[in-house]
Amino acid sequence: MGDTEQVFVKEAFDTNWVAPLGPNVDGFERDLQEYTGSAHAAALSSGTAALHLSLIMLGVKPGDTVICQSLTFSASANPIAYLGAVPVFIDSEHETWNMCPDALEQAVKDLTSKGKKPKAIIPVHLYGMPARMDEIISIAQHYDIPIVEDAAEALGSSLNGRKCGTFGKLGILSFNGNKIITTSGGGALLSADEALIQKARFLATQARDPAPHYQHSHIGYNYRMSNVLAGIGRGQMQVLPQRIEQRRAIFSFYQELLGGIPGIRFLNEPKGCFSNRWLTTLLIDPQMTGGITREDIRQALEARNIESRPLWKPMHLQPVFEGNPYFGGQVAEKLFEKGLCLPSGSNMTAPEKERIAERMRQIFHLK
Ligand SMILES: *Cc1c(COP(=O)(O)O)cnc(C)c1O
Repeated sequence: MGDTEQVFVKEAFDTNWVAPLGPNVDGFERDLQEYTGSAHAAALSSGTAALHLSLIMLGVKPGDTVICQSLTFSASANPIAYLGAVPVFIDSEHETWNMCPDALEQAVKDLTSKGKKPKAIIPVHLYGMPARMDEIISIAQHYDIPIVEDAAEALGSSLNGRKCGTFGKLGILSFNGNKIITTSGGGALLSADEALIQKARFLATQARDPAPHYQHSHIGYNYRMSNVLAGIGRGQMQVLPQRIEQRRAIFSFYQELLGGIPGIRFLNEPKGCFSNRWLTTLLIDPQMTGGITREDIRQALEARNIESRPLWKPMHLQPVFEGNPYFGGQVAEKLFEKGLCLPSGSNMTAPEKERIAERMRQIFHLK
């Protein structure tokens, strides 16, 4: 946390705005709009809720198909299943680890030819790295399919100067406890289309029609953000630039430490890409490290009480999505096999970094 979160939270208590609406919610939405350049924003209870509402507003119905990046957190795909629709998974490409435009086009063509034209495309900016939006947008426009952009991990990342979350018809953010800034739990929906954001607010507050009594002509949800948590969000927005600097400095630290080792590869920023470096990730190729595998490193770190994790396990390999359509090759699968997420908390101390460095030097027999 920064210095001002408690000031905004105290204000909520002092003014008795302890509800899923109020001045902090309005203020947080304004902050998000200003920062991302999105014309409109709705603060919601989670990123998952933002995805769910997006798909509802795009008219996703049982039996429909929705395209989703395979290499991601399950929350990208689950809302498709909430609606009884079928997630169709797409492989990654090497440069960004995100949705492969070629596999996407193949999927759209195949599904459309079978009368199952996808209702939406969900690309993800994984670990803060912008996806190849130019190509993805051009495919989406050609086939007239809306994009719901999962920018849950990419607040502050940009592509050619434009912030992630503002490329799709709808974009989602997350402020869950593990994200670059947090409201403990929370999310937001971004869009240039004011009517969509107004509809999202309506659906997120139990779809109450304008009437003195409680009148409903739609199924509603309880998905709005609390004014108390939005106070945390307003304070967090003030430290976001600093958090991005800290995360990028952590990336540089690891790159300096490990970048020269044969078989270790970092995810570089392709031209035009700016990553918030939410997590520092690397690939380990045992054929070049003298047999040292991802699991060897993970376990050697764990033995010193240093937590690291494999990359997200692709959705097309998850038991819950067994048998779902998948387009592409084995890029995501190989990334999962070789990839490791390193400790990347903004609050990592110098002694903690040194402890990691010392262990890495042991693992790789460095001086
Ligand atoms: C965290 C995350 C979400 C979901 O956000 P919540 O606020 O936790 O519901 C969705 N997609 C990705 C890629 C995420 O990392």
